[in-house]
Amino acid sequence: MDKNEFRCIECNEKAAELHRDYRNGILKITICDSCQKPVDKYIEYDPVIILIDAILCKTQAIRHILFNTSLNIHWKLCVFCLLCEAYLRWSLLHGSEPSSDPADFIRYTREWDFYGKFGLAALELCAFFCGVLLFLWAVVGCLQGGTLQLSLLLRALLLSCYGKVLLIPAVIWEHDFSPLCLGLIKLFVLVSNSQAIRVILNSSRRLSLMAVCLGLLSETCVAQACKKLPWSIQDMITFE
Ligand SMILES: [Zn+2]
Repeated sequence: MDKNEFRCIECNEKAAELHRDYRNGILKITICDSCQKPVDKYIEYDPVIILIDAILCKTQAIRHILFNTSLNIHWKLCVFCLLCEAYLRWSLLHGSEPSSDPADFIRYTREWDFYGKFGLAALELCAFFCGVLLFLWAVVGCLQGGTLQLSLLLRALLLSCYGKVLLIPAVIWEHDFSPLCLGLIKLFVLVSNSQAIRVILNSSRRLSLMAVCLGLLSETCVAQACKKLPWSIQDMITFE
């Protein structure tokens, strides 16, 4: 990594290194010039502890993951989360229908339903990101005079959607509380998104929450539009 690419997880100041190697097995954690605390205490921690702190939405843990590691799984994670979401919608679609017809034609249709749901979930996620990024571009770029680090922000948003993985156990262990669980998962993902934006831009909680709300609004608009449009994938399959 380049010089000053790291960040202090406590005060968000740039740092040249996380630790110094004095040879003979002696390593020393770098102390931040600005806040006099260790630049990144998490380099000594077990990944499970870091994950727990990230789930608790601690800004220090999120700064460690986003700035001081080269975790590069965001696109794979995004596809996996979309598959989880598509599976949830697909299972809800057929959960209410009688499943007595074993004909192959039905199975074929159901497979296409799954692809349709995947496409729809991807479209809604794009709408969410567009809403968030456009809002931040307008506020940070124009009003606050800063430049928006698009690639960093996109990586942070994609990584912070990891909570969607919880949709799978929610579907598998289906019970009366499922709608509540799904609502809580959605809320958790939105809070994670908001924390990720806050960490990347070092902004106020209000700004990041507003960005997430606008993203949610744009996602809902796209979802409603897709339901009402006559050329939806589901209709195309039904008409054939
Ligand atoms: Zn510091």
